Amino acid sequence: MDFFDRVQSVRRRIQTACEQAQRNVSSVRLVGVTKYIGPVELAELYRAGVREFGENRLQVAKPKLEAARVNHWKDVTWHFIGQLQTNKVKEVLREFTWIHSLDRWPLALEVNKRAQELGLRVPCLLQINVSGEETKAGLAANEALSFLEAAHSLSHIQVCGLMTMAPRADVPEEIRYVFRGLRELRDHLQSAGHAGIQELSMGMSQDFEAAILEGATIVRIGQTLLPDR
Ligand SMILES: *Cc1c(COP(=O)(O)O)cnc(C)c1O
Repeated sequence: MDFFDRVQSVRRRIQTACEQAQRNVSSVRLVGVTKYIGPVELAELYRAGVREFGENRLQVAKPKLEAARVNHWKDVTWHFIGQLQTNKVKEVLREFTWIHSLDRWPLALEVNKRAQELGLRVPCLLQINVSGEETKAGLAANEALSFLEAAHSLSHIQVCGLMTMAPRADVPEEIRYVFRGLRELRDHLQSAGHAGIQELSMGMSQDFEAAILEGATIVRIGQTLLPDR
């Protein structure tokens, strides 16, 4: 299968999961994670219709950001999905529209400051460590509410949802509780008065269907979009 077939296949699987969950397919956005590929393959993904791309490291993203610029792709949205160092924030904000990995207060302050300088209001997701694994980045679920209340004072950040990474698992069913946990946290935050917390960025190649069944609004898919090598 080439990129085109891969994208079609992923879109069909998203559609099937949406039908199963009785959700509208337009309620799930596909972010193609391009960290494994170069600019030429990026162009193939673009030709196959993908318009939202995710990268987890600025350095790795650069040749592809450059390709998007050179090709004048005005309809592409970049999502920063990896751990973000404060000294990279300024450059990241010049290139990426979304930040999925807001996970600590000093980072929020820096994003707000740099966004102000650039005249931006940046859509951000709070990264939550639902599974509680020590190796995983993210706020604990019980820290989210106070973080959000404090973030109200940061007028150049718009927190519009939550993101999580599930642990590796042999079967997606094993980690469905992680996705359910993120959705329940979102619902809790909404009922605590934070109606703007809507997005759920969860689900990757191994588990995106389970994530959609639990309410994912953004799936981040890399591996499964790649052609066989
Ligand atoms: C790499 C990565 C993905 C995509 O993972 P695949 O298993 O290749 O689909 C999603 N989210 C984040 C944060 C990643 O770093």
